[in-house]
Amino acid sequence: MSGREPGRNRRPERSHIVDYHTPDPVADPNSFRNIPSVEKVVQALAGDTFDLPRPIIIREVRQALGDLRQDLAKGKLDVDSMGFDDYAALCRDSIAKFSLTRIAPVINGTGVLIHTNLGRSPLGLEIGQRLQQIATSYCNVEIDLDAGERGPRAGFLESAIATLCQSDAATVVNNCAAALVLILKHLATEGKDEVIVSRGELVEIGGGFRVPEIMEASGAKLKEVGTTNKTRASDYENAATERTAMFLKVHRSNFSMEGFVESPTTEQLAALSRRLKVPFVEDLGSGAMVSTDGLAPIAHEPTPSELISRGVDLVCFSGDKLLGGPQAGIIAGRRDLVRGVKREPFYRAVRPDKLILAVLQETVSAYLHTSGTSAESLPDVPVVTMLSTSIATLRERANRIISDLPASLGFACTATDSIARCGGGTMPQSQIPSIALKLSLPEESLERFAHSLRVGSPGLVGYIDRGSFFIDIRTVFPHQDADVSKLIACSAHTVLGAKT
Ligand SMILES: *Cc1c(COP(=O)(O)O)cnc(C)c1O
Repeated sequence: MSGREPGRNRRPERSHIVDYHTPDPVADPNSFRNIPSVEKVVQALAGDTFDLPRPIIIREVRQALGDLRQDLAKGKLDVDSMGFDDYAALCRDSIAKFSLTRIAPVINGTGVLIHTNLGRSPLGLEIGQRLQQIATSYCNVEIDLDAGERGPRAGFLESAIATLCQSDAATVVNNCAAALVLILKHLATEGKDEVIVSRGELVEIGGGFRVPEIMEASGAKLKEVGTTNKTRASDYENAATERTAMFLKVHRSNFSMEGFVESPTTEQLAALSRRLKVPFVEDLGSGAMVSTDGLAPIAHEPTPSELISRGVDLVCFSGDKLLGGPQAGIIAGRRDLVRGVKREPFYRAVRPDKLILAVLQETVSAYLHTSGTSAESLPDVPVVTMLSTSIATLRERANRIISDLPASLGFACTATDSIARCGGGTMPQSQIPSIALKLSLPEESLERFAHSLRVGSPGLVGYIDRGSFFIDIRTVFPHQDADVSKLIACSAHTVLGAKT
């Protein structure tokens, strides 16, 4: 703490906006005296259970009172009608709002499995427990216990990933964007800096990830070939010169093109890259490890091992999309290229910490312990489990939640067919049949109900569609079902005054 304590004479942080000395055209300057001191409000709120450190409460109260002063100066606040309790209540509201920004568990009723705003992939319980053990202890992240000297970082993990991807070698960085920058930095060198990409793949993946901008950031020169809808292997061949550093293919993960569309097969490009001795890299984005079409009635998402077996030299993909692990960028492929990437100075700046490495190690191991896509042998990875849960099971759970609701909710709650999605820029066309709770609320209470659920404990995020509120069961963990009925009942009480 800086040692700044609130006091009667200390101006709140934003007080400079208010001029205390010239009479305000709207508010009587004497009115400012009605606004209580930070200290008094903090004392009055001491009984509230915010579970927040006192310095944070002081800061928030100071801010809230400063905002009130500004409102007063602008004539937006009627101080004559306000007593101390009103000020305290306003401060309490703003602290409550602020505490909602603290990262905490949320129930995902959106039906979007890999929801970037909700932290993408959750971890399995067993993996979470392993993480806890490693996180709360020292660990052998960079020591060779056998030899008693410094050892390679993530040696086990790199081998495990290579095994899973059936590649010569692999390594891990902070995210897929970093993986791509690193690959570009390594392969695009002075005098050999052109990267050939199809115009159909110069996409924005979301969250500011634009392929052309990533290229620029890495110092590579973008050489566009083909057109938005059609690119052929001959386009790559005609564009290749002695300045060509690599062919880059970007998996169209967040949009699809239909109709008059053509692009070379992976095999065609791989053959060309071998003939011209130009490395062939594919940014895969999602990195599914089991056949998605075996898990749900959706399309097949190419796996890293499939691409590598078709002749791609390097692939990169995210750790927290369909793989279902922590945020990470995985690079797999040719040993000499992976080694080169790891020697880049920039590699040190984007290497993950031990916790990420540990979680990824356990996630990859969970896949290696299982094989195939039969229901019995799926890894304990929530996105995989959620993707493969049957409609019958979802319907059963939805009905149980409904039967747990109080009789007098004030609106109908039914189980209905819905569509879940992969999300996170993964398989945009894929519609996963699902089951949702449909809450037929009065139109005017919809937004307030949705808000009430979001700010509940835990928060629950669903969606409004055609005048009803929906909670998709596919993305709710079974152990959260009881919470879902409690939270619905609680919001029905808060918003509609229903008896619970
Ligand atoms: C999601 C995605 C990325 C970005 O991955 P992050 O791990 O979020 O950095 C890059 N490329 C493709 C094709 C993607 O789908």
